Amino acid sequence: MRIVYLDNNATTRTDVEVVAAMLPYFTEHFGNPSSAHDFGAMSRLALKQAREKTRALIGASFSEEILFTSGGTEADNTAILGAIEGADGRDEIVVSAVEHPAVLALIARLERARRIRVHRIPVDAMGRLDRDRYRAVLSRKVALVSIMWANNETGVVFPVEELAEEAKAVGALFHTDAVQAVGRAPIAVRETAIDMLSLSAHKLHGPKGVGALYVRRGAPIHPLILGGSQERGRRAGTENAPGIVGLGKAAEIAATRRRGDAARMRALRDRLEASLTARIPGAFVLGDVERRLPNTSALVCAEAEADAIVLLLNRAGVAASSGAACAAGALAPSHVLRAMNVPAALAVGAVRLSLSRDNDDDDIDRVIEIMPAIVEKLRAGSRAPDVVAPARTAEWAYA
Ligand code: PLP
Repeated sequence: MRIVYLDNNATTRTDVEVVAAMLPYFTEHFGNPSSAHDFGAMSRLALKQAREKTRALIGASFSEEILFTSGGTEADNTAILGAIEGADGRDEIVVSAVEHPAVLALIARLERARRIRVHRIPVDAMGRLDRDRYRAVLSRKVALVSIMWANNETGVVFPVEELAEEAKAVGALFHTDAVQAVGRAPIAVRETAIDMLSLSAHKLHGPKGVGALYVRRGAPIHPLILGGSQERGRRAGTENAPGIVGLGKAAEIAATRRRGDAARMRALRDRLEASLTARIPGAFVLGDVERRLPNTSALVCAEAEADAIVLLLNRAGVAASSGAACAAGALAPSHVLRAMNVPAALAVGAVRLSLSRDNDDDDIDRVIEIMPAIVEKLRAGSRAPDVVAPARTAEWAYA
């Protein structure tokens, strides 16, 4: 059976070249980057090179603006907590309603525990930010704006460059969670007013458990993790040198391939969507299709439950994910689909198909071959009892 992996917004396959680059840093060049001897020097050099490659991928000005973290979640948390610690009397935060839980869960805690006022900016039915509402809440009380570059469920891209300019005009810091965008969308952060940007290696064919926070030179940063003086005192703990080398290699590959890969993914994704919407009656694509990542498709198949579709796709060797999760015995749409006001009856049929540079025409043909029949079968109510999806918590819906 042909295995087709279309869940690349959850995670990507680590590139074999990335693995090869990492391996010596486990067994040969295993020194602690803080050590004075040659083993340490080898690791230090590797970190320096990886920092430079990561800088280049996002178009930052200086490599010391790159702070390595354990991934996107830690980068988001560091940006937000740092901005709040450093906020001079400002006690408001602005976020979009469709941020990743790595932002929203922390913001909710700050709201409760520190009495920070949070403005959650709504989106419209196409997942676009309400720009008027955004402008209306910006004031000198805002310490931080945190708005994602691209949404993980729909792929919709926010105009973060313009939003950052508007935040700057009121003296607020601007952070963007670019975990889904880095390596997929063109990014030149030095040409923007963005102060901080989060990225994660495992979304760009690098290893899991490593990422970075870009912090513009001069922007205030308060460490989240305290201890030794690693990362210029901005993030304590012995550096994950093999992982960081992997991130650097993944960034280097992404920088050279991004443009071509994006065009190829877009063509494959568009063909997939055109065929599926033609063959599955009533199926449609969610979100602003003009302003989207090239790899993401959020497809609604009304009157079929996405959890069941995903389960049957999996049985046929196709990995995808759903936009609804079982909570208290009923399918509940994700917070993103709720924010877009997608009616619950439709949202339960939302399937996310997310591509990577590894996918090819045969993958797309396979999905086109099997998915319409799966949806038809479910609509006809002919699913076997064991197809009923297991109970899941809401967090499982999308990574
Ligand atoms: N932000 C977004 C938009 C994501 O999609 C993810 C990953 O699912 C994260 C943050 C968290 O990144 P990590 O898994 O590296 O902690």
